[in-house]
Amino acid sequence: MTSGKRNRPILIVGAGVAGLALGNFLLREGIGCVVFERRSREDVEQRQRAGVIDTRAARVFRKRGLEDRVVGGAPVEPSLGFRVDGQPRPLALSVEEHREGRLCPQQVLVRNLITVFEQDGGDLRFGTEASVEGIDGERPCVRLGDGSIVEGDFVAGCDGNRGTSLASVPESRITRHTHEYGYAWLVVLAEVPATQQTVMAIHRRGFAAQFGRGPRASRFYLQCPLDDTTEEWPDERVWSELEARFGEPLAAKGAIVEKQLLPLRGEVISPMSHGRLHLLGDAAHIVPPMSAKGMNLALHDADVFADALIHYYENGDPSLLDAYSDTRLREVWNYQAYATWLTDTVHDAGDPSYRGEFRHMVARADFERLYASATANRLLSEFVAGLN
Ligand SMILES: Cc1cc2nc3c(=O)[nH]c(=O)nc-3n(C[C@H](O)[C@H](O)[C@H](O)COP(=O)(O)OP(=O)(O)OC[C@H]3O[C@@H](n4cnc5c(N)ncnc54)[C@H](O)[C@@H]3O)c2cc1C
Repeated sequence: MTSGKRNRPILIVGAGVAGLALGNFLLREGIGCVVFERRSREDVEQRQRAGVIDTRAARVFRKRGLEDRVVGGAPVEPSLGFRVDGQPRPLALSVEEHREGRLCPQQVLVRNLITVFEQDGGDLRFGTEASVEGIDGERPCVRLGDGSIVEGDFVAGCDGNRGTSLASVPESRITRHTHEYGYAWLVVLAEVPATQQTVMAIHRRGFAAQFGRGPRASRFYLQCPLDDTTEEWPDERVWSELEARFGEPLAAKGAIVEKQLLPLRGEVISPMSHGRLHLLGDAAHIVPPMSAKGMNLALHDADVFADALIHYYENGDPSLLDAYSDTRLREVWNYQAYATWLTDTVHDAGDPSYRGEFRHMVARADFERLYASATANRLLSEFVAGLN
């Protein structure tokens, strides 16, 4: 890598949380960047997914002077609302003193990041599909739909798991570590206010959950076989199955506005850097939504990558950029370990038909340890809070 003299912009492909956070972090440091997003602004601002900014991510926004303008929402409650075999088993978490996480639906965060980026004079191009080229040379670039080319110093691939950034790297240079969990979630978005932050049901019929998504909406999740289709899940079946797994009537029902099937999987792309292309967020790793960490890992990537670029331009020293992949992969695997354990535990402790009675009993024992052992509780609490 050559000197740190600033000349061409950082090309950011994708205006999800990773790309928008990175754009804002760089803009505040006076580092030129352009964000390319293939969808319209309306599409991007309405996409409903995650709901919690963890402690570490909240601290990143504070460190960058963006907390007040970007992070909204109530503090995360230090408890998990489990129901086991239809009975309430709430679990108190033991990290109340570090409660800096915020309930902030992903689309609210995205909207705020777009507003701040534009207010501060950022260059954000919606409706612009970009493809990445020249990552091994000194002048990587993106080619736009109209055939024009924009050159930059580096490309930040923030365009998700099926994006052009990852596709621009020859397969022979990538190792894809992939894990399929063997079941799916029926993911339902409904106009139902949540009475509690989270309710998670462990039941022999399968896992179910309700996560609040702002004051008027909830996400409901139902574990189901991989080959189920949404047609097999009419609204009445969704409500009755949720009530069966929760073991009580729902406090409220409302219009179902979205239904999709999501096979649970984990993936890590190694390495996360290829020449002058660096991958961030879902472009580099997927964690199952049970862990509620996908959005947060994307934000942590943006923080570490922004620091590496700032160091490079201020000191002419590429060492943090060179270390970016190794630095991030350590945390990514740590989160995959947590996500795998939590996902396995709450699913295996319920329906034994996927992975057998032996796993079922082990998962039950593991789950009980969270109530019996302060150490186990603390470990889970630190992950939930985003401190580990
Ligand atoms: C149902 C569901 C529930 C989830 N729940 C949680 C949760 O509770 N907690 C949590 O932390 N995470 C959760 N996640 C995961 C989280 O939403 C993702 O990890 C997060 O969105 C990743 O951000 P990103 O910026 O990497 O990618 P994205 O948000 O996917 O953004 C990528 C952007 O790149 C754009 N793009 C793609 N190709 C191109 C191109 N060629 N040119 C220009 N633009 C392009 C796309 O249009 C998109 O806007 C959930 C995910 C799902 C699906």
